[in-house]
Amino acid sequence: MKVVFLGPPGVGKGTQAARFSERHHLPHIATGDLLRKALAEKTEVGLKARSFIEAGHLVPDDVIIQLMIDRLEAPDAASGYILDGFPRTIAQAKALTRVLEEKGVQLDRVVYFSLDDAILKERIVGRRSCPSCHTIYHVIYRRPPHEGLCACGNELIQRKDDTEETVAKRLIVYREETEPLIAYYKTQGLLTQIDAGGTLDEVAESLERTFQN
Ligand code: AMP
Repeated sequence: MKVVFLGPPGVGKGTQAARFSERHHLPHIATGDLLRKALAEKTEVGLKARSFIEAGHLVPDDVIIQLMIDRLEAPDAASGYILDGFPRTIAQAKALTRVLEEKGVQLDRVVYFSLDDAILKERIVGRRSCPSCHTIYHVIYRRPPHEGLCACGNELIQRKDDTEETVAKRLIVYREETEPLIAYYKTQGLLTQIDAGGTLDEVAESLERTFQN
């Protein structure tokens, strides 16, 4: 199964992708995580991406497309995956189609998680994550077992791009660059929309239901 999780920043697609990945034994491939790792390791990709990420802009298509081409070559991606945060532009979507066509395969589904902007901002600004195991918490809605600490024992951090100012920029970029993908995948008959306004469990249940149909 090859699926794309599409939606604005803060909609909860990363959290849902992590659960879905465990349940269906599929690798969860998140470009944001790949980039943050590259940044921490100061690789060439990390150095190229840094200023874009911190300003709330998208990393240039050529950098991301190459990163994903390499990632999709890994053995664990041979029979399926969940793509979280990719594609984010029409150019990336076309590149993905091309890569899949070359392998003689295609996407099974694109799940679009939708949510109100005001709720998105609240979710992002309260978000805390574990730099080690990548578990995501929220200061109100998904509190860690001990204040400031992940269940794995590491100290939680607030992402540099999760501040109110950068979030506003990221939402504008999402509307301009990523939202056109909704129509793009709808035309191809691949799109399923999910209301991401419920609790974690409710959203996970609607997600499961869409795959049972
Ligand atoms: P995320 O963790 O998905 O919110 O991604 C964090 C940041 O990484 C984004 O705000 C972008 O700067 C960058 N990024 C992640 N995925 C992509 C992508 N597919 N295309 C361009 N930039 C990306």
